[in-house]
Amino acid sequence: MDDISDIIKLLATPKDIAIITHRNPDGDALGSSLGLQIFLEKLGHAVKVVLPSEFPNTFLFMPKVSEAVIYDLTQDRALETLRNAEIIFCLDFNGLDRIDKMGIEISESKAKKILIDHHLDPEPFADYTLSETTASSTCELIHVFMDELGMLDKMDRDIAECLMVGLITDTGSFRYATSPRCYAVASSLKAAGADDYTLNDLIHNTLTEKQLRLLGHCLNNRLEVIPEYATGIIALTKEDYHTFKIGRGDTEGVVNYILMLKGIKAAAFMREQPTIIKMSFRSKGDISVADIARNHFNGGGHKNAAGGAAYAKLSDIVKRFKEVLPNYIEKQKL
Ligand code: 5GP
Ligand code: MN
Repeated sequence: MDDISDIIKLLATPKDIAIITHRNPDGDALGSSLGLQIFLEKLGHAVKVVLPSEFPNTFLFMPKVSEAVIYDLTQDRALETLRNAEIIFCLDFNGLDRIDKMGIEISESKAKKILIDHHLDPEPFADYTLSETTASSTCELIHVFMDELGMLDKMDRDIAECLMVGLITDTGSFRYATSPRCYAVASSLKAAGADDYTLNDLIHNTLTEKQLRLLGHCLNNRLEVIPEYATGIIALTKEDYHTFKIGRGDTEGVVNYILMLKGIKAAAFMREQPTIIKMSFRSKGDISVADIARNHFNGGGHKNAAGGAAYAKLSDIVKRFKEVLPNYIEKQKL
């Protein structure tokens, strides 16, 4: 399957389709999956979205999100869905390690696999790959995909709202990773009825009191600034997890606050979770945190937004990060 015409043929008769996306799905993962689901259902296919793990409550407003099968909660249903699928769409991830145990299922599956993604270096596991690292989001690429199929006439308000969610979240409300095409897609979605004002409100103004106070704690007590390397680090300890009763999603977005400091070019947010240290990295301009994540922290991602994980001590991870910084960021003249 090298050609979009093969996909058009494949989708010409009703199929059982599974759509999967990465662990800890974000707005782009959910938006692209649900938008594609609604589109494919309109074409007469039987479609299920399978998520490796739960999604943040913030996204409960999205159409069909509560129908998604969650591997972590109902493994049998997830496996059955994947095994029954004739086509599996893989959205917003570039490698099977991003979907945990579902990866084995996918690599062994006989279904036709279609990968649509905007991360660097996609693994060649799919039969058809639409990968553009310059795309703002996978949601933008779903619009491109519908266009290539010649089926943009199937766009409706629900699909447009799902896709707009991914555009909004992966561009930080159109502050980065934009392009002329990104705005053209946004325009098309808005014309189809997507209410970006309300979506922005639903997505961003939803912190609980606990989360806002935790953010205050991170900034007031856990932020370390390294002016020589224009970098800020926030490290959250196991005790912080206990004190603030931190749950899934409670630390979402914290890393981005570091980049609000004038002159700061790179940010790291390390979390000491029960069994693993999770890391989020952000940067500006030419500094590649994807390289830092890949070379030192078993991770990867985009040039300016990456992550990693390690079984190690929090203090060792912070130390290692500081040690490797000079290889990636020029010493600043202060
Ligand atoms: P976040 O900091 O929001 O969790 O992740 C930002 C980006 O980094 C994600 O979109 C993803 O591309 C990448 N990323 C995060 N964690 C990992 C990881 O453990 N491994 C890899 N390869 N990429 C990650
Ligand atoms: Mn994305």
